[in-house]
Amino acid sequence: MFDSVLIANRGEIALRIQRACRVLGLKTIAVHSEADRGLPHVHLADQAFCIGPAAAARSYLDQAAILFAAELSGAGAVHPGYGFLSENAAFAERVEASGRVFIGPRPESIRLMGDKIAAKRAMRAAGVPCVPGLDAALSGDITEARRAAAEAGYPVMLKAAGGGGGRGMRVVRHEGELADALSVTSEEARRAFGDGSVYVEKFLAAPRHVEIQVLADAHGGAVWLGSRDCSLQRRHQKVVEEAPAPGLPAATVAAIGERCVEACRRIGYRGVGTFEFLVENDAFHFIEMNTRLQVEHPVTEMTTGLDIVELQLRVAMGEPLPISQADVACRGHAIECRINAEDPTTFAPSPGVIDEWTTPGGPGVRCDSHASAGYRMPAHYDSLLAKLIVHGSSRDDALTRLRAALEDMRVGGIKTNIDLHRRIVRDQAFMAGGVNIHHLEQMMAGNTSP
Ligand code: ADP
Repeated sequence: MFDSVLIANRGEIALRIQRACRVLGLKTIAVHSEADRGLPHVHLADQAFCIGPAAAARSYLDQAAILFAAELSGAGAVHPGYGFLSENAAFAERVEASGRVFIGPRPESIRLMGDKIAAKRAMRAAGVPCVPGLDAALSGDITEARRAAAEAGYPVMLKAAGGGGGRGMRVVRHEGELADALSVTSEEARRAFGDGSVYVEKFLAAPRHVEIQVLADAHGGAVWLGSRDCSLQRRHQKVVEEAPAPGLPAATVAAIGERCVEACRRIGYRGVGTFEFLVENDAFHFIEMNTRLQVEHPVTEMTTGLDIVELQLRVAMGEPLPISQADVACRGHAIECRINAEDPTTFAPSPGVIDEWTTPGGPGVRCDSHASAGYRMPAHYDSLLAKLIVHGSSRDDALTRLRAALEDMRVGGIKTNIDLHRRIVRDQAFMAGGVNIHHLEQMMAGNTSP
């Protein structure tokens, strides 16, 4: 169906996609900004095109430049990676209109899941449990908003239907705050996302973030690949992820996984995807679906033994899934640390030249990175430098390996959050498993209860 893939991304994920392409014998085409000429995937690609200056808006987000490179190179497919254009339905449509395969779901699925109200409605219809609340936009009429908020039960959260990246959300503790919060959130949403639609749902005080990885083909085949826990977050950004989510009843997780697969079949979903949930007292509440490959997919690869990117490419080529649910196993435990180039106290990005680079190895240790000694970390993109992933026969075993691996890891010349990870893997509550989404910020502030 296609024998070459244009990789519309950069950094570690571009290299990861390229590796999967080479395993399948697919040619690769790199598109890069002026700042990224030296990236390893650019050198390894069969063809490479500079598509613009460093600023992402003029390179990795420039749809016309990417489509032109696809045309020139004769690429049969476009892989968007994560971030950038990966969840842009209009871009997916343009790729398809140019006669190429967009390696992702159908544009309609991206659009459906990009509207959080429509997504919740579709999920509830498929039997996926959602956060309590009205699955409709508030009209702006305060009496109606009061009724909807009271039904969800205070405290509630006002959320923008088109929101993303942790923006467009506001907690409302009691009815007196509702009117002002509604007009401010709606106005912010209009400005930030071009859509002022706001809805209301119950605010969960101390949930965990648990997600389910799915993979579907174009022939009605779909499987779920286990759970991940991504509760360790700072400002809604994930810092550590693990698979499976610790301490949850297996039967509960399996029932949710089955609902997710059923939802994929109902909406005709194709490719990889992730259902994100907030979990309180072992009860799952759907918040959103990511219609792309995720940063944290390697922990699932380590526990299932599957190459998720290879499978993603194969279903994009039109192949039926080579596995059924009965073939999906979850062995041992895997944990991923996002190693960021950032100041450990201010969290400001720390660009510059890396003068020391030593990554750990040994059984069960994997490091996905585009960096090396001499690499200049540009200031223009997100600060992810490497993903350190370990696998062990049990969670304790994985933690032991991770502690040793983090001691071995050395990055010099720029600042990183490696020391923060060294603290996390010795934190009593994290070691016990099952902390909530506020834990990391509390730990960093030094006020966690044991
Ligand atoms: P985004 O698309 O901006 O990432 P999400 O809906 O995924 O938005 O929510 C991001 C984060 O906001 C969640 O991981 C959680 O920490 C918090 N959050 C969202 N909805 C709720 C809720 N109803 N109650 C409590 N926290 C929430």
